[in-house]
Amino acid sequence: MDSRDTIGAISTPPGSGGIGIIRMSGPDALAHLKAVFQPLSKTCSFESHRLYYGRVVHPDDKKNLDEVLAVFMAAPKTYTREDVVEIHCHGNFLVLQSILELLLNLGVRLAAPGEFTKLAYLNGRIDLTQAEAVIDILSARTRKGMDMALDQLGGALYKEVDAIRTSLVQMRAVVEVAIDFPDEDVEIVNYASLLKQVRNEVLIPLEKLLRQAEAGKIFRDGISVVIVGLPNVGKSSLLNTLLQEERALVTAIPGTTRDTIEEYLDIQGVPVRIVDTAGIRSEADEVEKLGIERARKQIDQADLVLFMVDGSRGIQAEDRQLFETVNHKPLLVVSNKSDLTSTIIETGDLGFQGDIHSCIYISAKKQQGIEELKDAIFTNVVGGKDQWQEEGCVPNIRHKAALLNAKESVVRLGEGLAMEATSDLLAIDLQDSLEQLNDIVGITTTEDVLDVIFEQFCLGK
Ligand code: GDP
Ligand code: ZN
Repeated sequence: MDSRDTIGAISTPPGSGGIGIIRMSGPDALAHLKAVFQPLSKTCSFESHRLYYGRVVHPDDKKNLDEVLAVFMAAPKTYTREDVVEIHCHGNFLVLQSILELLLNLGVRLAAPGEFTKLAYLNGRIDLTQAEAVIDILSARTRKGMDMALDQLGGALYKEVDAIRTSLVQMRAVVEVAIDFPDEDVEIVNYASLLKQVRNEVLIPLEKLLRQAEAGKIFRDGISVVIVGLPNVGKSSLLNTLLQEERALVTAIPGTTRDTIEEYLDIQGVPVRIVDTAGIRSEADEVEKLGIERARKQIDQADLVLFMVDGSRGIQAEDRQLFETVNHKPLLVVSNKSDLTSTIIETGDLGFQGDIHSCIYISAKKQQGIEELKDAIFTNVVGGKDQWQEEGCVPNIRHKAALLNAKESVVRLGEGLAMEATSDLLAIDLQDSLEQLNDIVGITTTEDVLDVIFEQFCLGK
């Protein structure tokens, strides 16, 4: 008897689709499949990794639940490295629900969010960075974000971290020999050569990963841009024009209010959350005030404000007033309606003091100047930073914290080596940095950290 649970869940998203998939993993997966599945072919032997056509039938009343395709995949060549079964039925939630309920009644336990992937990690099929990549794949909003996640799933980050780990382990061995045989005459610790190894094999790669984390962060996390301007300058028109061209993979965020409308754009691989703050006016009524408050919050949280004026009218007193409220943010001035007679906008006229903001002339209606605007947004948010190197992997915020800690210990280790410190002191710093890297790949990661990671998953993954 195997004491491990067999878990199950609906693995396709809620709602209806062509097909829906129920997945089970665990020692009893095949037995449960056999209990509910009636293959069409009399010779069905549930050969591993083979799809069979048949029906799901309730074992008691023989009620037909759906026509399905079922596959049994024998451990260990599966997602979880356990026995896995998938039942592909019609993508109707009621069908999926009734089959899942039947399996739960037979003793299958409902999987927790991310539990399949957690098993893959716990059973050693993937490391923790690869498990995290699965989250990134599921939530990527741009093709570039997706490519980064796929790289990480392929083990790109793991390999780089593991190379550093290997080097640390090797140095630790050298230092430990010195601890174990302190009286030997031979000089076991060659400080100069260890120092060189620390720099080349540990410090430089660590710093590279940290740079990559910083530069690539924006492609993973995205930025938030808010369009601010008086009524009728063309904010909604710009949003629509941008969305027509560059709508990102995931849009229509639930909870969107009628006061602020937000959508995601894909600007050169950066997921850009763009918000149209409608209705910021001083003479607002109560309902509008709510909207204003929300708009203020959006502005406060924004990485960039697009301050829009109607270029066919030029700058008005009200524009200046409004400008004062966003003046403290990084911003681009956008002059719209360039298809009409347009005035040259002096950003100084807006009351802006300090660096002169350049103004971008567009026609939201005629879709002119939109490329320039997108370039300006991209340069504004990415431009100043180190360019992200396409071939490098991008550590996430958890990895980055561990990398920073590791670097601290490694710097201390370098100092220790330079001062020819005792072996046991060197060993401490070596061990500290090693532990940080072990946390990244999941060798020593604590249960609560694991919980936080796997809670980010959706059900059935
Ligand atoms: P909002 O109140 O700032 O969201 O402005 P809207 O997008 O609703 O646009 C207000 C009016 O200006 C509408 O009649 C639009 O058709 C018009 N409009 C928007 N952009 C342009 C433009 O580039 N050129 C011209 N000629 N009209 C525009
Ligand atoms: Zn509008």
